[in-house]
Amino acid sequence: MSRPLRLVVVGAAGRMGRALIRAVSEHQGCTLHAALEREHAPTIGQDAGILAGLPANGCALTHDVHAAFAGADGVLDFTTPLASVLFARVAAEHGLVHVIGTTGFNADEMTSLEEAAHRARIVQSGNFSLGVNLLAALVNKAAQVLGPDWDIELLEMHHKMKVDAPSGTALLLGEAAASGRNIRLEDAAVHTRDGHTGARKQGSIGFQSLRGGSVVGDHTVLFAGAGERIELRHIAEDRALFAQGALKAALWAQTQPPGLYDMQDVLVLYRILPSSS
Ligand code: NAD
Repeated sequence: MSRPLRLVVVGAAGRMGRALIRAVSEHQGCTLHAALEREHAPTIGQDAGILAGLPANGCALTHDVHAAFAGADGVLDFTTPLASVLFARVAAEHGLVHVIGTTGFNADEMTSLEEAAHRARIVQSGNFSLGVNLLAALVNKAAQVLGPDWDIELLEMHHKMKVDAPSGTALLLGEAAASGRNIRLEDAAVHTRDGHTGARKQGSIGFQSLRGGSVVGDHTVLFAGAGERIELRHIAEDRALFAQGALKAALWAQTQPPGLYDMQDVLVLYRILPSSS
């Protein structure tokens, strides 16, 4: 059997960071190489295992990126867009697989990730769960079959600490719907409605974001036709889902050439539900 994949968890004290540390500890194919937090974070020096609610594992949180990345195989990164852009550059220098779950990138930040992917294997997804990626394949198919006479609305709800909207998952689902219709999401997306908006523009794809409580992630894609409606829904109950998917992505990317991949590449779901048939 090959040796376990040595993984660095960045943003190790965050909600997802701690879920990732737990997932790595439970997976036989991986081992925790280092745990990184931002400089001056109060958790620097603390034991990563204890922070994640596990027994101590002897891995103290550090802010030294180069020391953490040296000798590793991959990086699991659910942090902030600015931090992920920096990690993409350093991960490429060290030849590491970079799994990015961070959401809310702007166009310039996306260009930086694309540049890093010329040299590095990056898997980026707004959602690493099998369920959401299967939902995206179903949404793609439904949008293709139903056509533009059916109005598409995406509704999402997340915990009150979430800082970006719409969620990365809602955008991923919006992209799946737009590609099923053979259009670009940026040409069809409607993010706000307030006041006298006029009638709904045909072919548009609407987004609504709710924030509150401790909701891990609820997404509904609504197809509204004349006299009938279809609702496709996913409910995430535990962050462990995303962490396990991120590990799957890191193991998969290990054998791939440099490039920017997503979870559809890892799970091959569009091939199960081909958009051309
Ligand atoms: P969080 O705020 O709990 O954790 C983020 C962590 O990153 C914090 O501990 C913070 O200190 C750390 N961090 C920030 N800058 C850093 C730096 N330069 N170096 C090292 N650490 C740094 O947030 P969260 O709920 O864990 O979510 C993190 C990101 O992951 C968000 O963008 C969220 O939308 C996204 N997310 C994605 C998925 C998915 O499946 N793709 C699932 C859940 C969350």
